[in-house]
Amino acid sequence: MTLKRILFFITTFLLAVSSEAAHGTSSDLNSLIQDARSFLCAKSFCLTKPVTVVVENSDDYFAFYHAQQNKISLSPTLDAAETQLDLVHEFTHAYRHQFNTNEVAWLDEGLAKLMEYQYGGVWPVSYQERLRHNPRIVLSNDRRVDFSRGGDGYPSSFWLMIYLYNHLGGEKFLKKVLESPFSGWDNIERAARELQASGDISEPVAFLKRDQILFAFSVALFLNDEFAMKYGLFSIDTHYEPLAQAAWNDSNNLAEKEKTTINYFKNFISTDGCETYSVRGHGASAVVSVARSGSAGDAFIQLCF
Ligand SMILES: [Zn+2]
Repeated sequence: MTLKRILFFITTFLLAVSSEAAHGTSSDLNSLIQDARSFLCAKSFCLTKPVTVVVENSDDYFAFYHAQQNKISLSPTLDAAETQLDLVHEFTHAYRHQFNTNEVAWLDEGLAKLMEYQYGGVWPVSYQERLRHNPRIVLSNDRRVDFSRGGDGYPSSFWLMIYLYNHLGGEKFLKKVLESPFSGWDNIERAARELQASGDISEPVAFLKRDQILFAFSVALFLNDEFAMKYGLFSIDTHYEPLAQAAWNDSNNLAEKEKTTINYFKNFISTDGCETYSVRGHGASAVVSVARSGSAGDAFIQLCF
């Protein structure tokens, strides 16, 4: 067999493996597909089933993973950079689907958004701006969450995921949650407990429950102060600008920062069925509400001050 023939066979084999690749897709798209899959696989998230990727117009989305057909649709209007990020996002859904076909939307999207961030490496400044001007976190599977581009859904899911990732064991946490047969808060709490038991995270078990996590998360959105609590649970990320900081900047009262401590916390059920966490410090305050509607893991969080 000549070298040329060997190369031909290797190329043919690779194209068959990337099969999913695609009816009618260009070689450029095929290389983007391979790159996205390689990125996930290098993190030990290898797709075991072929995923079909098609480029097609839709009025409803720019990119979408059709779970039933195990197919990704991409809009022809996406440029190469957008296509690349969207492929990483949609392949993450496909990978999660290998282990659990019923993950809740806010967690499923949070995982995909976190993976996008890891791939692109660009801090989502637009999400930060959005939160500053509309300090509202929405985590729910119901119609109150807008998962359109520009809606509340993706940023809210991203903020919670980056928080959990940074505090609950990073890549080990990500792997456990991505490969869990459980969904929503059940998934998150079990992953955290297992990592605590194996010595991968040092927080006491009492901190690893949904209500405690939501409380610490809400204060972290507000303060982002890694020294404000043992185990640093009151911080989101080193890149994150806290809402309290935005309030101080707006008021030009930087002296408030020196005084800020959490001096009020209350947890109650409001008339609209929301479980509300209220956190207040000097100069600003934050309110976090969590809906107690039927299904496990279904939550509505509102943050305002
Ligand atoms: Zn998605």
